[in-house]
Amino acid sequence: MNIILLGPPGAGKGTQARRLVEEHGMIQLSTGDMLRAARTSGTDMGKRVAAVMDAGNLVTDEIVIGLIEEQLSIDNSKGFIFDGFPRTLGQADALENLLNKINKQLNFVIEMKVDDDALVSRIVGRSTCDSCGEVYHNVTKPEPNECHMCGSKIFKSRADDNELSLKTRLMAYYRDTSPLIGYYYAKGNLYSINGLQDINIVAEKIGSILNR
Ligand code: AMP
Repeated sequence: MNIILLGPPGAGKGTQARRLVEEHGMIQLSTGDMLRAARTSGTDMGKRVAAVMDAGNLVTDEIVIGLIEEQLSIDNSKGFIFDGFPRTLGQADALENLLNKINKQLNFVIEMKVDDDALVSRIVGRSTCDSCGEVYHNVTKPEPNECHMCGSKIFKSRADDNELSLKTRLMAYYRDTSPLIGYYYAKGNLYSINGLQDINIVAEKIGSILNR
């Protein structure tokens, strides 16, 4: 089963993807995480995309499609969760072609809807565990001394989790990514859920879509 989690920054895609990994053994393919890893390891590509990411703009289709293509060869029986990919119609077409080539298909596209005011407060104040990626928030889930999930003591805030970059990220979402909602609706595999609900309820709703 291969699924896309679609939604604006802060909708909870990463959080839900991690649960699907834990509970269903699926493989999370987050282009944002791959790009951040390229930056940390200082590859040429990582250096090229750093400023684009920090400003909140999209990196080129060519780069992210290449990153996804490398991962699709991973042997996996439970399926992939595409998290933060595709973000443009060009990426959506490329994904379809790549999956066709390996005789796989896209089963569900799950749109996580969250209103814009909620996104701003979710993102500004967000931090993550440096080791396992668990998400904390200075109002709703303050950082503990040690991560609840893995015990690490190191937490990080993303350079693009500030109001200015978020505005650019939201504009990129509405301009380039939101057309995918209509595109996948027309293809017949779109399911929309309210991403503002409690994390456990959102997870249950995703679970019931996957059980169809
Ligand atoms: P994310 O972690 O998904 O919020 O992504 C962080 C940043 O990485 C985005 O704001 C973009 O600069 C870049 N990025 C991640 N995924 C993509 C993608 N599929 N297409 C273009 N840029 C991406």
